[in-house]
Amino acid sequence: MDKIKGFALRFDKELCTQCGICEDSCAYGAVRLADYPEIDVDACRLCGDCTRSCPAGALTLAGAPTGSVDEGNGIYVLAETSRGKLSPVTAELLGKAAELAAQSGQCVEAILAGYRLEEQAKELIAYGAERVHLLDSETLSAYIKENYAKAVAKIVGELRPAVLLVGATQRGRGLSARLASMLRTGLTADCTGLCIDPETGLLRQVRPAFGGNLMATIVTLGHRPQMASVRPGVMKAQRCDWSRTGEIVRHDLSAFEPDTRISLLGETVKVSTGKSLNDSRIVVGIGRGVRDKETVAEISRWAAGIGAAVAGSRAAVECGLIEPSRQVGQTGQTISPDLYIAIGISGQIQHTAAITGARRIIAINPDKDAPIFGMADYGWVATVEEALPVLSEIGLKV
Ligand SMILES: Cc1cc2nc3c(=O)[nH]c(=O)nc-3n(C[C@H](O)[C@H](O)[C@H](O)COP(=O)(O)OP(=O)(O)OC[C@H]3O[C@@H](n4cnc5c(N)ncnc54)[C@H](O)[C@@H]3O)c2cc1C
Repeated sequence: MDKIKGFALRFDKELCTQCGICEDSCAYGAVRLADYPEIDVDACRLCGDCTRSCPAGALTLAGAPTGSVDEGNGIYVLAETSRGKLSPVTAELLGKAAELAAQSGQCVEAILAGYRLEEQAKELIAYGAERVHLLDSETLSAYIKENYAKAVAKIVGELRPAVLLVGATQRGRGLSARLASMLRTGLTADCTGLCIDPETGLLRQVRPAFGGNLMATIVTLGHRPQMASVRPGVMKAQRCDWSRTGEIVRHDLSAFEPDTRISLLGETVKVSTGKSLNDSRIVVGIGRGVRDKETVAEISRWAAGIGAAVAGSRAAVECGLIEPSRQVGQTGQTISPDLYIAIGISGQIQHTAAITGARRIIAINPDKDAPIFGMADYGWVATVEEALPVLSEIGLKV
């Protein structure tokens, strides 16, 4: 049964009475009774139901978490580049990696895959990487996730990091899921908090669960690396300091065989209208309460005048008031502007979870009991129709 080294489910033939209870107990159909129980390791979730149901104690789960962070080999960040530039989330992950490394006495390392990325490797050091693993090859010049995953999985398999952090960007989401599957480890997506458990040394991965109604803390027990993805704008980057020193390790990819079934024929840059949400110091959030497109246009003109970007709630997106790429919230973007002005937004947790990084929040809503007032620094009980002429009149200085 122990087909894979380290697979945590153990079977003792001497104890087994071939009763078949284990087969009935498995919700995933991973146990099949032939002469003795056979476990399909791909289907098995290591939930432990079969071990608990076995009256003879013939099945056991290797209980103790293996490979605690103390035994690990570094806190790694998978760097992301876009059009030759490091994505901001990479610097943010390095900032968090530095904290985790300080908590666990490990090194901060980065993996950078692509083509002609020497300068970006140095920039990773400036942002806090102590060692950069450079996978530089012409075969990786176009972003084809199958190739990136294959190259990165091989290096991760060799280096065996304790922790691997990935940006929960459009690219990182697909890549991290593929990597976790190739590495046969777990992945906690969209973490909002990460720290090292002082007792176990494990990475505590915190993320909203059940529609944001509770925060779940997840640990990866018997598998390595402990993989987590984090959205842009959630963690704080360290200052870019070019006097930082570090090592760049170039890995030989001459034997790397890209997937020849896939090739990139061309790329089209999508030009997004309006200011980018992550680069704006002020963001105006539009909610369902704004109701019509004319008012949205008026708010947008006012927002442009004060140098603000316009975003919206999911309800506003569903009403067609705001384009989907500008949705803020659990299933949209996470932002941390200096000022967030929420107009006609009730303040449900799925929205507010993504604005906790804002330095100041102003809420405008006619319902004095709207939850958004609970987290706003300044609240104005008014309709948008009442508020907008006043806002346009007074302007705004931040
Ligand atoms: C799994 C899941 C994921 C989700 N992800 C997201 C997400 O990413 N982002 C997100 O935003 N939501 C998300 N939601 C939806 C979320 O739960 C709320 O439904 C949504 O945020 C509500 O948007 P809203 O505040 O604009 O609308 P409403 O809750 O309908 O609030 C409208 C507000 O407008 C006010 N109002 C009424 N008239 C006026 C007026 N004349 N002027 C000004 N204000 C007025 C009302 O008092 C009210 O408070 C998600 C939900 C689920 C279940």
